[in-house]
Amino acid sequence: MPDCPEDCRNARKDLYLATSLIDPDAEKETRTELAIGDNSGLEPALDLTTVERRPRVLAAMAHPDDAEILVGGILLSLRDCGCEIGILTMTHGDCGSATLSKEEISRIRSAEARAAADYLGGWYGCAGLLDIEVMMTPENLRRVIESMRQFNPDIVITHSPVDYMLDHEETSRLARAATFAIAMPLYETRQPDPAPPARGTPALYYADPVEGLDPFGQRLLPDFHVDIAPVLERKRELLSRHASQREWLRAHHGVDEYLNRMVEWAQNYGRECGAAAAEGLRQHRGHGYPRAPILQQILAASVRSLVTRQ
Ligand SMILES: [Zn+2]
Repeated sequence: MPDCPEDCRNARKDLYLATSLIDPDAEKETRTELAIGDNSGLEPALDLTTVERRPRVLAAMAHPDDAEILVGGILLSLRDCGCEIGILTMTHGDCGSATLSKEEISRIRSAEARAAADYLGGWYGCAGLLDIEVMMTPENLRRVIESMRQFNPDIVITHSPVDYMLDHEETSRLARAATFAIAMPLYETRQPDPAPPARGTPALYYADPVEGLDPFGQRLLPDFHVDIAPVLERKRELLSRHASQREWLRAHHGVDEYLNRMVEWAQNYGRECGAAAAEGLRQHRGHGYPRAPILQQILAASVRSLVTRQ
């Protein structure tokens, strides 16, 4: 079951941040075609000292270590800007070993996830689903919505809707459905000690898929990159909290050098935008969601390119 520190419960009493961040004029913006590496037209910086409360950013990912690999640099940068950080995993990573029992590896990976969240000074929760069985079902959705309500985020970052494995894609669907329903007063999660509905729909962002590739091996370009070079060494430290996964990845995927592969991917994304290392994001801009570039404004100093879509 997800846990929730006392300050998290208290924070729900605060005014909902997004209402103070959304610039109504931004809703009308016409997105401009920009070449990769062209930094003109980026969003103005947002002074967080002027908002009602510190923005609460939740990375909702499938397994322990996904958030750290895919958006660890972004989470560190957001933390440095004054955001509250949370990590929600769908599972405890119960299939993440070739030698240990489900119970043993779940316990180890939960401790690693908690240690990583501690390194970020953030919150950690788990929806209690099982590896390979992360699927859009009513019960799973109720658990995810309950976990999200416990943290009460203003911004949610989840997996790309298209990724290398279905646990990631289904997490993306669950996170999309959960962010849509999190503020609905009549939606009941039917979980013990339920948290109240959120005050509004969080802004939703999608991380790059693993290796930046879709299932057909094609690069799936983000809306924008975030330069993570200044925090890359701390991202290595963050990821090193997941010590069990180096051995597991070597056994299952044939991938060695767990930390070095992460750096290699970040360098590849960096080459797309003229940075030494980067991570990418896409923003969900569909009906009913905040369309203002909230995260881009918070990280304005680190946003290095805007890859277009009209
Ligand atoms: Zn994963």
